[in-house]
Amino acid sequence: MPFDLSQDLQQRREQNLYRATRLAQSPQGPIMQMDGREFLTFCSNDYLGLANHSKLITAFQQAASEYGVGSGAAHLVNGHSYYHQALEEALAEFTGRESALLFSTGYMANLGVIAALLNKEDGVFEDKWNHASLLDAGLLSGARFQRYLHNDVANLTTRLQRSEARRKLIVTDGVFSMDGDAADLPSLSSVAKQNDAWLMVDDAHGLGVLGDTGAGLCEAQSQSQDQVQILMGTLGKGMGTAGAFVAGSKELIEYLTNFARPYIYTTAMPAAIAAATLASIEIVKHEPQRREHLQSLIQQFKTGAQQLGLNLMPSDTAIQPVLVGDAQIALNMSEQLRERGIMVTAIRPPTVPAGTARLRITLSASHTNEQVDQLLQALGALSSTMESK
Ligand SMILES: *Cc1c(COP(=O)(O)O)cnc(C)c1O
Repeated sequence: MPFDLSQDLQQRREQNLYRATRLAQSPQGPIMQMDGREFLTFCSNDYLGLANHSKLITAFQQAASEYGVGSGAAHLVNGHSYYHQALEEALAEFTGRESALLFSTGYMANLGVIAALLNKEDGVFEDKWNHASLLDAGLLSGARFQRYLHNDVANLTTRLQRSEARRKLIVTDGVFSMDGDAADLPSLSSVAKQNDAWLMVDDAHGLGVLGDTGAGLCEAQSQSQDQVQILMGTLGKGMGTAGAFVAGSKELIEYLTNFARPYIYTTAMPAAIAAATLASIEIVKHEPQRREHLQSLIQQFKTGAQQLGLNLMPSDTAIQPVLVGDAQIALNMSEQLRERGIMVTAIRPPTVPAGTARLRITLSASHTNEQVDQLLQALGALSSTMESK
C-alpha cells in the first residue's frame, strides 16, 4: 500500500509530533479569540504590533479602492504597480542598499535567490540552525550543501578553505527563529571576504525590531552591502503585512529579476499589501518607542524567568525559548498554559533537534508589563506543579 497515509499520520501522533491548525476569530494582538475562547497570546511574530494597526488598514483599503484586490499577473507581465515600485525603492533606502526586489513570500525569496545563484559547480555553507526555507533552498540549488556548527566561524572557515567550488555562498539567519540568538555578522563577513565568498542574511526576525531605525540586524551590526551582499527580509513579521524582499547591488537585483524562478513565475503580491507596507515602514522608522518598549518587556521576562529557575536560551530578542527537552512535556506545559488562558506554542522536532523541545515565547510591543507578569505567574505555577509530579 504505497499511499497508506494513515500509518504515517498515526506515527506522528504516537511521537507527539502531530500538527493541526487552530481557528483565530479576531485580529492579531495580545488578546485573541481562538477556538471560541479568549487567550492572552505569546506566539505571534507581530513583534511591533503592526498587523492590525489603523494606519496600515487605511493604506490597504485606499490602495484596494485604487488598484483592486488582485494584482492579476506576475511582476514581469503587468502586475507591477506604482505601489510595488514605491515599496521596492523604500525598502532599498530603508536597508541602505542600492536596490530591492519583492517576492510574494519569504520562503519563495530564499528558494529564488539561492537556486538562481548556485548550481552543482558551487558550494553553499549554511548554519546548522537555519530556517527550513534556507535549507530547502540550498538542497534545491544542486550546489554542494554543507551545514556548519551553529554560529561557529572556525568550523565554517575550515569548510570554506577546503572547498574548491566556483561560487561559495554563506547563508545564515540573522536572528535564529527557534532560538532567538543573533548571528555574528562582522565575523561572518570577514571570513567571507578572506575566502572569496558571499554572505546572505535572512533577517526575518530582525527587520523592524533591531537597529536604531528598525532596519534590522545589518543596521545593528553596521553591515553594509559590501559586507552582506544579499539581504533578505520578510514583511509578515515585524513589519505586520505579508511578503518578502531581497536587497543588494543593482546588478544582483537585475540578475534575480532574470533568473529567480519563484520571482518570475508567481503573481505579484496585491498592490494593497505593498501600500500597507509603505505605511508600516514609516511607523517603524519614526516610532522607536515601540522597539524600546519591546526591549523593556524582554528584560522583564528574562529577569522574571531566571528568578523562577526556568531554562532560558541565550537570546536578547523578542524570541525567548524556554528549553524543556522532551516533546511530551513541552506539549503538556503548553496545554496547561492554555487551560489558564495563555497561548504559547510548544516547538518540537523536526523543527528543532531531538531532545530540545521548547516553549517558544514571543513578545510584542503591543504587550503590557502586566501581561508579561501574568505569563510569568502562570509559568511559575506550572513549574511548581511539574516539579511535584
Ligand atoms: C518566517 C520565516 C521565513 C519565511 O517567510 P514567509 O514570508 O513567512 O514565507 C523565512 N526565513 C525565516 C528565518 C523565517 O522565520
